[in-house]
Amino acid sequence: MNVPLLDLKAQYAPLRSDLLDAVTRVADSQQFIMGPEVEAFEREIALVTDTTYALGVSSGTDALLLALMALDIGPGDEVVTSTFSFFATAGCIARVGAKPVLVDIDPETFNIDPVAAARACTRRTKALLPVHLFGQSADMSAILALADEFKLKVIEDAAQAIGTREHGGVVGGIGHIGCFSFFPSKNLGGFGDGGLVSTNNHELARRMRLLRNHGQEPKYYHHLIGGNFRLDALQAAVLRVKLPHLAGWTEARRANAARYRKLFAEADVPEITLPVDRGGDGYHIYNQFVIRAPRREELRAHLTAAGIGTEVYYPVPFHLQQCFAHLNYKAGDFPHAEKAAAEVLALPIYPELTDGQQAYVVDRIRAFYRE
Ligand SMILES: *Cc1c(COP(=O)(O)O)cnc(C)c1O
Repeated sequence: MNVPLLDLKAQYAPLRSDLLDAVTRVADSQQFIMGPEVEAFEREIALVTDTTYALGVSSGTDALLLALMALDIGPGDEVVTSTFSFFATAGCIARVGAKPVLVDIDPETFNIDPVAAARACTRRTKALLPVHLFGQSADMSAILALADEFKLKVIEDAAQAIGTREHGGVVGGIGHIGCFSFFPSKNLGGFGDGGLVSTNNHELARRMRLLRNHGQEPKYYHHLIGGNFRLDALQAAVLRVKLPHLAGWTEARRANAARYRKLFAEADVPEITLPVDRGGDGYHIYNQFVIRAPRREELRAHLTAAGIGTEVYYPVPFHLQQCFAHLNYKAGDFPHAEKAAAEVLALPIYPELTDGQQAYVVDRIRAFYRE
């Protein structure tokens, strides 16, 4: 049996003619930059992010950059974030000239530890940048309380968390700005790169709209120094076809997560630790299903040989990355993140995964620890 980590062709097949129609529609219009497809997509997705404003941008990375620029964060400022995420989270803070101040994670959820975040705040702290890693919300009530106390802005890295809920709110609209990605492996993926910023704040929306397009309004009259952070009309058209299916795909991912829990309980593999789903009024969208596994590299090789795709998100926390050596962190500074980096393994969780494939994955993991 073959079980890839992600099977985009399985999602594409039933939507193929709708997707190609959408691409043809844009090709026939020859309108590739902004225009009606992007505007329609922004209206439609604002209902999913539950925000007044949703602006399509060129990638999740550019969404983060744009958010930091809109909040005027730069040299002399500090932004507190988790040391355990995809590189863009910390990379963008450094790119605007601010200092990423890294903190450890809650070992249960892999998300930023709010107590550690509070300890990291100084007079120079301007913003908190929590990540909703793997599709589960960070502890936003604690983050908001902290932001209130120190008068900080909150940028949510919701790249892996479209539709994730907590405290009756949808992530991306809980803080000041939410940042999303449509990279093909995210729950809502385009035919290439794309992203989104969301906010309920009119002034921030206005600034981000300007900054997305070189700060010009009208054309060639520049109010701010922005960039080209626009979402392609082609991507917007593709995403509009996929958007009505997102809720169903998310439910399928959640059902797959529940099935893994049942299968692992039956198989009795005490060696591995399953991801914690805080449940309650939270809603985990399972962009990834990440277990902790002893002898991870060996297990991974064993699964690869059995035709099962896995991935390590992420093998090196930010504080141990070479490009951040100047921040002067050292091994041992953030033990929970370092332990996670050594143990985590993402299993296939995509919506079209079958019962048989999941049973096979669990059986092969059981066999690894029993043999
Ligand atoms: C994917 C991702 C990003 C970046 O998104 P791109 O669209 O790939 O630029 C940022 N943060 C996190 C947590 C991500 O998973």
